[in-house]
Amino acid sequence: MTTAVVVGSGPNGLAAAVFLAREGVEVTVLEAADTIGGGTRTSELTPGLLHDHCSATHPMAVGSPFLRSLDLGRHGLTWCLPEIDCVHPLDSGEAGVLHRSVEETAEGLPEGDGRRWRRTFGPLVDGYDALAEDLMRPLAHVPRHPVRLAAFGPQALLPTAAVARRWRSESARALFAGVAAHAFRPFDRPASAAIGLTIIAAGHRHGWPVAAGGSRAISDALAAQLTEFGGRVETGTRVLSRADLPPADLTLFDVAPGTVADILGDLLPVRVARAYRRYRQGPGAFKVDFAVQGGVPWTNQAARRAGTVHLGGPYAEVAATERAVHAGRMPRRPFVLVGQQYLADPRRSKGDLHPVWTYAHVPHGYDGDATEAIVAQIERFAPGFRERVLDMAVRPPAAFEEYNPNYVGGDIVAGANTAFQLVMRPRAALDPYSTGVPGMFICSAATPPGAGAHGMCGANAAASALRHLGRRHGKT
Ligand SMILES: Cc1cc2nc3c(=O)[nH]c(=O)nc-3n(C[C@H](O)[C@H](O)[C@H](O)COP(=O)(O)OP(=O)(O)OC[C@H]3O[C@@H](n4cnc5c(N)ncnc54)[C@H](O)[C@@H]3O)c2cc1C
Repeated sequence: MTTAVVVGSGPNGLAAAVFLAREGVEVTVLEAADTIGGGTRTSELTPGLLHDHCSATHPMAVGSPFLRSLDLGRHGLTWCLPEIDCVHPLDSGEAGVLHRSVEETAEGLPEGDGRRWRRTFGPLVDGYDALAEDLMRPLAHVPRHPVRLAAFGPQALLPTAAVARRWRSESARALFAGVAAHAFRPFDRPASAAIGLTIIAAGHRHGWPVAAGGSRAISDALAAQLTEFGGRVETGTRVLSRADLPPADLTLFDVAPGTVADILGDLLPVRVARAYRRYRQGPGAFKVDFAVQGGVPWTNQAARRAGTVHLGGPYAEVAATERAVHAGRMPRRPFVLVGQQYLADPRRSKGDLHPVWTYAHVPHGYDGDATEAIVAQIERFAPGFRERVLDMAVRPPAAFEEYNPNYVGGDIVAGANTAFQLVMRPRAALDPYSTGVPGMFICSAATPPGAGAHGMCGANAAASALRHLGRRHGKT
């Protein structure tokens, strides 16, 4: 029987393991931490409330071709949709409001901008599932839907600034900016629009759901599926060197490229080791989870019903903060993302005390304290917030890296989303999953299609591993 070891039990490690086990491979997953899940863990960071440690909102996971090929619902994964996906409030009290429906979103924007929103996203949403089949694979593959890909490609290569110019109103421009900022990339850089366009299209197709009971339900369901296919997970097992790797036909690493270089040492071809060590990381995240009595008193009423709220004010301000963190400067008013998962999944709360998930974009490796900057940004759009905070849990960039070494310098998207690394990560190679060592592959979010709890990096890497053995496999 073919055997495989997967190092790391994030959504990509587990997806790779499930993919292989489904094909009859005997799989063991080795996880350094005491619990599985990597970026999909959930626990009581404040007493009695369920907080997502990392990933919160899952437009890309719900549309993931691999996750959709599994019946994870049978293993307890249920998606819950908020009433409104995302709101970007402005100082005037108005806001850009992202609804699931393109039509409803367009109707909420000033007339010309609504038309332009429809023209930008309507065609992308109509063919989103087909497009995702190509977008979520490595560059060097034969497109399954070449016409859709050809229509999307030129837009995706644009800087965020160029796409944002399509809209005239501040609400539409800021709404797009807030989602585009998920790329952690200055808005004037080529291809910086790609991630914003994709997340909005995915959301208009599938919504921005949260997992019932917390994001850990994603990894718990994957682990249950793995067990059903005969695979197993060992927690509390950190792999530091080759000596820690049990013999196996295939080894897949759900870790950062630099960690693969550390583990494999001189087994790794020199050119691959050099590429992994030069892999570029992006800015960091500074996270604060709050326990808030009565929820956040947003001035904008739609924000009180939204799963996600983006705080950064008008387009120009968000653009400036993203430029600053990229250049290593901490902005006075950073871009802040707020997750109100409990609105879609009320069981995470305790009575009227609610878990509110936030993080700010900060420079790579930032060692200051951004807690007050986050509180001040929320107060700016929700006066009275401060008085409602009963407890909080703070995680600065260094603590992120300690918690999970994949988040180098607090970079939660597993590598800078430069135009090059968007399509060629973690190195320029026909098979980006191959480490150059026979039978060994990298499957973390540092590989295509990049960050997110969608499992597609793992599934693609597993498919590549099976090809290496000369085996055919089922569809992802
Ligand atoms: C604050 C934050 C917010 C986010 N928000 C979202 C969101 O809303 N939606 C979304 O889709 N994504 C989000 N993400 C991103 C998402 O969580 C990641 O992209 C995803 O978890 C990456 O999965 P992975 O399997 O590649 O790696 P990880 O989830 O990072 O898992 C890697 C695992 O490997 C283990 N490991 C590392 N080194 C070793 C070793 N040497 N030996 C053994 N085990 C090891 C780690 O302990 C970890 O469990 C967010 C991330 C963060 C941190």
